[in-house]
Amino acid sequence: MYFFPIQYDEPLFRPPSEANAAIVQATLGCSWNSCAFCNMYETKKFKVRSFDDVKHDIIHLAKAMPSARKVFLADGNAFVLSYDRLMPIVSTINEHFGRAHRISAYALPSNILAKTHVQLCELRTNGLSLLYIGVESGDNDLLAMINKSETAQSTLEGISKAHAAGIDTSVMIINGLGGQKYSQQHALNSAKLVSQLNPKFLSTLTLFTPHGLNQFQTQFKGDFIPQTQVEQLNELSLFIEHLELDGTIFRSNHVSNSVGLEGVLSKDKMKLLSTLEQVIEKAGTLMESPRTPVNRKIY
Ligand code: SF4
Repeated sequence: MYFFPIQYDEPLFRPPSEANAAIVQATLGCSWNSCAFCNMYETKKFKVRSFDDVKHDIIHLAKAMPSARKVFLADGNAFVLSYDRLMPIVSTINEHFGRAHRISAYALPSNILAKTHVQLCELRTNGLSLLYIGVESGDNDLLAMINKSETAQSTLEGISKAHAAGIDTSVMIINGLGGQKYSQQHALNSAKLVSQLNPKFLSTLTLFTPHGLNQFQTQFKGDFIPQTQVEQLNELSLFIEHLELDGTIFRSNHVSNSVGLEGVLSKDKMKLLSTLEQVIEKAGTLMESPRTPVNRKIY
């Protein structure tokens, strides 16, 4: 039987690209824990773990994974920790993981804004070089409807501040988040925001409602009308079409997505749009979900 050296407080989540990382729980749960679509940490009360407990885990993980190249700080938004709490954790990781070249964490833009530029630069210098940020949408109406606690402006300011300190970001947008009614504004304003951010990584997930549509509609502070799969793909296509990026690595390969896509944007934009168009055509439903109401000259 395989013996794991530390005991995690479950459930435990990490981004797909951290599959081989050593995962250190610096916090438990999510400090916000109120987004309408998210049930990841519904069973957990947010808690900051003691430094001694975190250090214990780092030391034991480092012995078990001496060749780990990446360390991921869990849970939901470990970057909520103040600089004074994060630095000793980062230093301890550097001390014990000799081969690690990247420390990363989930973050809310407000967690970045709560730190000074100098503090962010210090964290970056000490190896904390990537933040995963669930932007979800660039549309302020929709961000309010899902109770995200961030706006397009706070997201722009927070992520820009991380970039200014040399910290890369991986940004996530949720396809289908606004249903039929808010689909166009979601796609266009998300493309606008992501284009302003020009993150190193961009991924799209598709909305899924583990507790059923009714519960989501109750929590959604708007008029949520479910989309067909083709309507969601048309929305994704509209989003990609309006992205203006330079060297962003794009992945749409989450298990929630009906079509797997990957490429470098904007270089591969036409290829991605062509793939999507073929899938939509194959479904024989282009006529069913016309994109004619879209104002393509919005920018
Ligand atoms: S901030 Fe992230 S982890 Fe927290 S509730 Fe929202 S989506 Fe879930």
